[in-house]
Amino acid sequence: MKVVLILADGMRPDSLSDIVQAQKLISESSYTLCGETVYPSVTLPCHISLFHSVTPQRHGTTTNTYVPQVRPINGICEVLKQADKKCAIFYNWEELRDVSRPNSLTHSCFYAGRRIGYKEAGEVLTEEAIRYLKNYDTDFTFIYFGYPDMAGHNHGWMTEEYMEAIQSSWDNIEKLMSELGDEYTYIITADHGGHDRTHGSNMHEDMLIPIIINGKDFEKGKELKSANIIDIAPTVTKLLGVEPDSDWEGTPLL
Ligand SMILES: [Zn+2]
Repeated sequence: MKVVLILADGMRPDSLSDIVQAQKLISESSYTLCGETVYPSVTLPCHISLFHSVTPQRHGTTTNTYVPQVRPINGICEVLKQADKKCAIFYNWEELRDVSRPNSLTHSCFYAGRRIGYKEAGEVLTEEAIRYLKNYDTDFTFIYFGYPDMAGHNHGWMTEEYMEAIQSSWDNIEKLMSELGDEYTYIITADHGGHDRTHGSNMHEDMLIPIIINGKDFEKGKELKSANIIDIAPTVTKLLGVEPDSDWEGTPLL
């Protein structure tokens, strides 16, 4: 079993209702459209929580500036590295370099969305991830698309431009899944939602995220109950047959 975790930044659950690929995947997966993220609903704190299975109050990063932990907790990549598993990350927003610590990855690929545009950077990352995974056996892969969040800030959440970014992300997701096939379990999620041209509050629009898990251990069309972003790390390690870190606070979604 290998795991691919795909995250579209700022992807609200209700943005999926008109996305054909999302609706098809939901019918073939276990899922929730009312998963919860952590507060503050800000990109870096939410990602550090996703990877380390604790809230921002515990890991200490509460803005998009990374704060080294006073008493460091191992994240997904550190725990997997200790179990001799191979991890790779593909991303287009540089702040995410701190989701893992040095020496825990076998591959890292960054294209700056700020430079080449988040749409193009997402497409290039998709191609790179497919090429890499077909050539190098990788147990856990994280792929991040920043385009929806950028469109939300520039034009507003749920606007035409935002929906175009959601569609573009799903075109990438569809391509990844069809090229990589069913030897992987896929987790598709978001870090937070958004409203107007912002996020970060504890409003539903900001706090709710979709979590869609597709793989042989997950019943098709089953709704997951009370899933939180901090449950993703222990889900990944359980799928890979590795014990979670004793500091983790989340519960596996299987
Ligand atoms: Zn944002």
